[in-house]
Amino acid sequence: MPLFPRLLLVALLLSTPALATKTQSVLYPQHLSEAAIRNAESHEWARQLRDSIVANAKPWRDASDEDLWNMPFGHRITRSWMVLSDGVCPNCGKDVKMYNWKIDIWNHPWKVQCPHCAELFPKNDFAAFHRSGFDERGIFDPTQADRSLLVNLEHPDPSDPLHAFGVDDGEGYVRGEDRWRFIGYYLVAGLWRQGIVGGVRALSDAYWVTRDPVYAHKAAILLDRAADLYPDFDFATQGLVYEQKGRAGSVATWHDAC
Ligand SMILES: [Zn+2]
Repeated sequence: MPLFPRLLLVALLLSTPALATKTQSVLYPQHLSEAAIRNAESHEWARQLRDSIVANAKPWRDASDEDLWNMPFGHRITRSWMVLSDGVCPNCGKDVKMYNWKIDIWNHPWKVQCPHCAELFPKNDFAAFHRSGFDERGIFDPTQADRSLLVNLEHPDPSDPLHAFGVDDGEGYVRGEDRWRFIGYYLVAGLWRQGIVGGVRALSDAYWVTRDPVYAHKAAILLDRAADLYPDFDFATQGLVYEQKGRAGSVATWHDAC
C-alpha cells in the first residue's frame, strides 16, 4: 500500500474516536492472516517465508520507540534524488553516478558509502548537528544548529588541510564547482525509502504473519510522526532531481509514490 493512503488512514484513526478502538483488520480479511499463520506452522516453505518476513522487520522491532519517533525528518534540508548525478567519489575519484552511493541506515546512520573505496560521507557527525538545530517541534532549523560541529572528525585540527574535507551541513559538500549532497540523498534514499516507508512495510508484513501487536505499535509510531511532518513537504520547491528543482512530489518526487 502506498504510504500516503497509510498516512490518511492513520489520520482518520487518530481523529475518529470510534475508529481509534477498531477491533479488526480494515484492509485485509483476518482469515487470510490466520491461514498464513497456520501454513507457517505446517509447511516448511511457509515457515521459511514467515521467518524471512520477521527477520526483515527485526531492525525496526528492536529499535526503541524514541529512535523510531526521531526517524521522520523535517522539510528544511534540501532533499536530492542523487548525491551528484554525474559525479565521482571525492576520496578515490572513481565514478559514483546516479544511485550508486550505498546506504545502510542501521550500520552507518547518516552516511553514504562509496561502492569503490568504501569511504563514508559526510565526514562530520551529522546526527549531532541535526539534533543541535531542533526547534520546539523537534524539526531541524539550520539557523539554530551549532555550526562548530561542522568538522571532519578524522581531521579535527583546524590547521589540517582536510579539516573541512567531506563536511556536509545538509546543503552539500562543495569543492570547486561540484556539490555532493550526501545528506540530501540520505534523506530520500536512506531515511525515507529505507527507514520510514521500508519500515512501515516490513512491520506491517510481520504483523500480518504473526499477529504480534509489537509490530503494529512500532509501525504506528513511524506513521504518527511522519503524519505530523508530512504537510510541510513540497518536493517541487524543496527537492532536486539531477540538481534541478521543479519536479512535483511531497517528501520524494512523484514517481516514488511520495
Ligand atoms: Zn571512493
